[in-house]
Amino acid sequence: MKFLEHEAKSVFAEHGIPIPGGFLIRSADELSGYLEKLPPEFVLKAQVDVGGRGKAGGILITDRQNGVATARSLFGKTIKGVPVREILAEERLPIIHEYYASIAVDRSTKEALILFTEEGGVDIEKLARERPFAIRRASVPLLMTEIPPFMLRDLLRGAPNEAGRILQCLYTVFCRKDAILAEINPLVTTSSGIFAADAKLIVDDNALKRQGISQNRDLTERERAAERHGFSYVELDGNIGVIGNGAGLTMATLDLIDFFNGKAANFLDVGGGADQERVMHAVRLVAGVPSVRVIIVNLLGGITRCDEVARGIIDAKISQEVIVRLAGTNEEEGRCLLMEKGYRMLDSMEEAVRAAVEAVR
Ligand code: GDP
Ligand code: MN
Repeated sequence: MKFLEHEAKSVFAEHGIPIPGGFLIRSADELSGYLEKLPPEFVLKAQVDVGGRGKAGGILITDRQNGVATARSLFGKTIKGVPVREILAEERLPIIHEYYASIAVDRSTKEALILFTEEGGVDIEKLARERPFAIRRASVPLLMTEIPPFMLRDLLRGAPNEAGRILQCLYTVFCRKDAILAEINPLVTTSSGIFAADAKLIVDDNALKRQGISQNRDLTERERAAERHGFSYVELDGNIGVIGNGAGLTMATLDLIDFFNGKAANFLDVGGGADQERVMHAVRLVAGVPSVRVIIVNLLGGITRCDEVARGIIDAKISQEVIVRLAGTNEEEGRCLLMEKGYRMLDSMEEAVRAAVEAVR
């Protein structure tokens, strides 16, 4: 489970990591009550569960005079599709330098992977692609209660001494909270010390019970519907709706869309043995996403029967085009049903995906 910035910051602060002073507000008017307690200049940070809020307009610098109006405009926005319901109003830090520090589970070695770079603030994935040597790494076996000092010295060459203490605190958070990621980007230096200007914490879903956390993630209406039907469903930001059976086949469909330079709008795995009704619900659910312009249904008939799938697609009666690739049990019957109704049926995944990508071009 992903913590919001303000939640992650509270956890970090409890473990000795300095954070900027601030207040969480749920409406612009609420800010008026805090104006006297905030410095003349401060930042408003949208508390949304997406990365790169800064570039997406979710972080605004303002002052006492304009704060309430700025907060009002930020509350009206959606950042990368997520509506702003909470804002963290925080003192503006006079930043000298931005560092990056993170600890993640390294799945291959089953150890804690620590990353540190003096080039923080920016998109770490981009830095890893363009200047991988700028990122320092160390692996710590999870049984260790702290990061061995020799590793810290190596990681932090040239960085301020306080960074070492912060990394030890971050490691404690990581272990105690059963995290799969604990990240500070940027970790900033100012004339009055070092601070976590941003905070990210993802707790392993398998540890939520042990951590006493009840998952209270805001599901969208569609995500809730998908959960009720038992579909594995993830929303993405493209325009091609994707329905498959089995995580592997559905992922492969997404990969092919990417290969042909298309953009998937979602991932929907109907699961095993989907019948007519389930397929209909799946198609309707995906067709209900406003950005979806075409849907590709890529199903392999095993226990799932292709004729049932075909009937489900026809029953859905949606306005967007559905491009179908069916193979396996009762394939011929399924094909006939769909052909009669004028659906485009393609023999291979490649052809079907290519047709879908061309349809939205
Ligand atoms: P993200 O874009 O979602 O990662 O949000 P961040 O909290 O990391 O903010 C993005 C950028 O905004 C940072 O890298 C800083 O450059 C800037 N920023 C955030 N908070 C402050 C602040 O208190 N003072 C100043 N000067 N800049 C800030
Ligand atoms: Mn950040």
